[in-house]
Amino acid sequence: MKKIFLKKNEEHRITSGHLWVFSNEIEKMEEDPQSGDTVEVFDVKNNLLGTGFFNKNSLIAVRMLSSKTISDMESFLREKMKSAYDLRKTFYPNREAFRMVFSESDFLPGLVIDKYNSTFVFQVYSAGMEKNLELITKLLKEDFSAENIFTKHEPYFRKLEGLPEENSILFGNADDEIIYDGSISYEINFSHGQKTGFYFDQSDNRFFIEKISSGKTVLDAFCNSGGFGLHALKAGASEVMFVDSSAIEIEKVKKNLELNKLSGKAEFVIADVFDFFEREVASHKKYDLVCVDPPAFAKNKKTLKTAEKGYEKLNRLAMQSLNSGGFLATSSCSFHLKRADFLAVIVRAALKAKRTIQLIHFNEASLDHPKLPAMEETSYLKFAVFKITG
Ligand code: SAH
Repeated sequence: MKKIFLKKNEEHRITSGHLWVFSNEIEKMEEDPQSGDTVEVFDVKNNLLGTGFFNKNSLIAVRMLSSKTISDMESFLREKMKSAYDLRKTFYPNREAFRMVFSESDFLPGLVIDKYNSTFVFQVYSAGMEKNLELITKLLKEDFSAENIFTKHEPYFRKLEGLPEENSILFGNADDEIIYDGSISYEINFSHGQKTGFYFDQSDNRFFIEKISSGKTVLDAFCNSGGFGLHALKAGASEVMFVDSSAIEIEKVKKNLELNKLSGKAEFVIADVFDFFEREVASHKKYDLVCVDPPAFAKNKKTLKTAEKGYEKLNRLAMQSLNSGGFLATSSCSFHLKRADFLAVIVRAALKAKRTIQLIHFNEASLDHPKLPAMEETSYLKFAVFKITG
């Protein structure tokens, strides 16, 4: 195997469990490794740090797979995929749809696999995984009875890795699927869907909403396929207002309501959520529960301050639209906005809205998105539920 040696003292992050080697941390390379090659990584004193995927086109030069030598890639991938699958089945025994593999968090860097029954959707963000896609496809067919396999990458991350942006069908087709999350069924349309087709990361958090929805008037803002509102209706909400800027997503919500026999207590608005809130506040309209789950406002560190202002305004408007005694379920999927700063934003929003609040519940992404404690990059979603006490 080709070898890469790190500069003095650059091994500490790797030995503590972080999985990325940056290009400026490399002292020398032997045998001219190429993008996608599997390489062995050593510290300056020739101690093995482990095995990883090399990419000369990325700032992340090596993504570590293991702290040992990998002699057989097929059995390595087979074992890691099985253990990722078994973990999901431990807490979702009756579900056939979940994030089956979450990249670094499952020791399969640059590989996301979302399972929709026997349809498997990939996002591939490392040259090494790209090179092994055929093998991974074969394993999914052999071990997981895959009938359809295709990619649905985010172009932004493909560009960072110098990988082509085009998607491909690797096996079968990309026809619609109906999935069940244990309470609600969703029709998944892969050709018009965001992400791989569904936001699995909020799945556990949607179940939390069931605890505080009975008899309540609910606003599901940035609703996408309607997960929060659907769970609220399932738990007996008196009425749910679904708001999203995408007409395609609102159509999906309507289908999902029919699919679950929950139509009748729902209203829909296709609008920018900020504009929607301004109108509601102006007309003094109030809800008992407001869910806000916006897209990431902070795409990088540079935009963090502007993003914080956006979150503050959004949450201020949400609080102004809540009855006293109501609940705000607020999310941020900006990795750059840390938990403490997110909570500080909410505190400022409450001050501006002149509301007093209690934090009732805090969570991150669902259990099918494990986190590596040594790698903060694996943790991005924040979900906080507040009671408006006055
Ligand atoms: N709550 C959803 C996921 C939200 S994803 C779930 O549980 O599945 C974010 C959604 O916000 C997307 O559907 C996108 O279409 C929508 N969106 C993005 N910007 C928006 C805006 N300014 N106003 C309204 N909707 C917006």
